[in-house]
Amino acid sequence: MEIIESIPALNEALTIAGKSGNSIGFVPTMGALHEGHMALVRRARQVSDVVVVSVFVNPTQFNNPDDLKLYPRTPEKDAALLKKNGCDIAFFPSVTEVYPADYQTPEVPLGNLDAVMEGEFRPGHFRGVVQVVNRFFEVIRPQKAFFGLKDFQQVAVIRHMVRFLELPVEIVPCPTLRETTGLAMSSRNVRLSGNGKADALTIYRSLMAAKEKSADHSPAEIMLAMKEAYKSSPLELEYFTIVHPDTLEPLADEWVPGATACVAAYCEGVRLIDNMTLTEQTA
Ligand code: AMP
Repeated sequence: MEIIESIPALNEALTIAGKSGNSIGFVPTMGALHEGHMALVRRARQVSDVVVVSVFVNPTQFNNPDDLKLYPRTPEKDAALLKKNGCDIAFFPSVTEVYPADYQTPEVPLGNLDAVMEGEFRPGHFRGVVQVVNRFFEVIRPQKAFFGLKDFQQVAVIRHMVRFLELPVEIVPCPTLRETTGLAMSSRNVRLSGNGKADALTIYRSLMAAKEKSADHSPAEIMLAMKEAYKSSPLELEYFTIVHPDTLEPLADEWVPGATACVAAYCEGVRLIDNMTLTEQTA
């Protein structure tokens, strides 16, 4: 595995690795890597000739400076994990490498995709996500890019970006990896105490409860019941919303195939997100 920090070095490595029509699979990350990320890397390994993983804490997608400052950074451990899981090129760029002074970000209107949930509570977040992913697509030119459904809204935003800019890349969504307890794996979990991890299970339990209730309750009834339930939990709920899987429009009285419950809540001051599909998808 090559560890690369600059775009010229990346270009050189890609020219060598990508010749003779080799396909490139790309996994963007912010580091503090865990098994959830590794599932993406292994998936990329299965279907690509060359696997490129970026490790970059993108400042433009953080609306809260403390969150950016406290975001865990473990580059040595990340490099070792990537090597073990079949990454060919690990790209660890600096902020100035990713955003040179003359860099122009394409405008991608996101409409409702940016008006709800993460878009509502983290203004500017998806603008930053679009900016960084587009920049990496531009320099890496992958055929496939792998994203975790843990960030459900992000997948919808990136798919929209690819359609809007007509980019020649296939977006491959990958399922959420969980601890055996049900807690969704996240880089932010390292900031939780043992008690915090137990408290954070409220999120998984609320999603499971919503799934069970979806058989005989409307989305609006479930959302109301869950908001009530969080009031007596140790977590501070930001939103519990059930949405259409493509448009992300909140549902009220009617179910649609693939209806998805999405949650953001604070546990010990750490912002956690998770989601679960409640109703069968259509083929
Ligand atoms: P991040 O480093 O948090 O930006 O995540 C990088 C990629 O890994 C994103 O596509 C995430 O959705 C994905 N990811 C993070 N946690 C998980 C998980 N528990 N299961 C699957 N994918 C994940």
